[in-house]
Amino acid sequence: MKLAARAGRIVPSPTLSITATAKAMAAQGLDVIDFASGEPDFDTPDLVKDAAHTAIKNGFTKYTPASGIDELKLAVVTKLETEQGLRYDKAQILISCGAKHTLYNIAEALFEHGDEVIIPSPFWVSYPDQILLNDATPVLLDTHEAEGYVVRRRDLEAKITPRTKAIIINSPCNPTGATYTRECLQEIADIAERHDLVIISDEIYEKIIYDGIRHISIATLGPDIAARTVIVNGVSKAYAMTGWRIGYAAGPKALIAAMANIQSQSTSNPTSISQKAAVVALRDGDAFTQHMVKEFDRRRRYMVGRLNAMPGVSCPMPTGAFYAFPNVSGLFNRAHAGGKIQTAADLAGYLLQDAKVAVVPGEPFGSASHIRLSYATSMETIARGWERMETALTKLD
Ligand code: PMP
Ligand code: GLU
Repeated sequence: MKLAARAGRIVPSPTLSITATAKAMAAQGLDVIDFASGEPDFDTPDLVKDAAHTAIKNGFTKYTPASGIDELKLAVVTKLETEQGLRYDKAQILISCGAKHTLYNIAEALFEHGDEVIIPSPFWVSYPDQILLNDATPVLLDTHEAEGYVVRRRDLEAKITPRTKAIIINSPCNPTGATYTRECLQEIADIAERHDLVIISDEIYEKIIYDGIRHISIATLGPDIAARTVIVNGVSKAYAMTGWRIGYAAGPKALIAAMANIQSQSTSNPTSISQKAAVVALRDGDAFTQHMVKEFDRRRRYMVGRLNAMPGVSCPMPTGAFYAFPNVSGLFNRAHAGGKIQTAADLAGYLLQDAKVAVVPGEPFGSASHIRLSYATSMETIARGWERMETALTKLD
């Protein structure tokens, strides 16, 4: 059977595959510590689960409008207005099966052969592959650890060509944990206006933010910017609802309508029950999020402290999301019984084999010098993981 060329352009999601490997090893009885999973370890709050039970009991178990129920769209409209001061009409909102699906709908509705899409690097693994699946070209824009991974105006301008269609902004960022300042967002916005670019603003980690920093959406910089921005968000991270699969987009009417058509011909509506649960999460879930983020903050300091105490490793303090992204190139060229560590992938392989600790190597995020460790796992697990990593790393020659 001859498959379509697009199927050969991409790889399976590396974050999901490494997590699946760690879970499979655990299922075989191996005591694996998972720093790879990109999801909160907290259980979904009871008030959300109760809303789902009620939906089931009330028979809310049938198709809904393909673009989502009005009640959830209006909850999103209210959230955007009260929390971010952004005004949208419900025709500007689309509910999808997770933010990943939202991003995919955007790529399908916007991109075609010949288009270039700028992605600041390091980046979340699915952006380039979703662009490739839609026949367009991802253009990576390097950002640097020493500068807090901000996008510099000159670097961005150098990447723009007549084919540039859009730029993806992800603040707080997976994997670096960087949050964009207003000044940095303003520079990007000015360039986007000058070159008529669409801005895709992935704000899924919006509420997982530390040190008193406030999340800023680029869409708040003015109506002209909002008119060229599509905000991507969802309930997965803020309300520990990764399995419920609810994401949303807020953006220009014509784009949202095109995405809704695509959705109506592909997945139809996101799960009816999850939509009802998401209404309650958006409306009443914030106390839960605050509690969770406080705990993530404690773990963040511990994880980053341990990383920086390890010779050959350096890690800036992330200001958002729940990942540490240390530079591990100081460990390269060291040897172990099974070979030599020359890349982040070699190190991740060694940690999994020798210490039974799963981390994600930096390569699929655009860096062979880093690894990603999630601290969305209990303090006790983090401490145990560290004991093992320390033993494994001190064995290196
Ligand atoms: N964007 C980023 C940056 C992410 O890390 C994730 C994690 N899965 C997503 C989007 C998608 O989230 P979900 O599909 O679970 O809503
Ligand atoms: N976004 C999370 C991560 O980066 C979950 C896995 C995925 O969807 O890629 O690990």
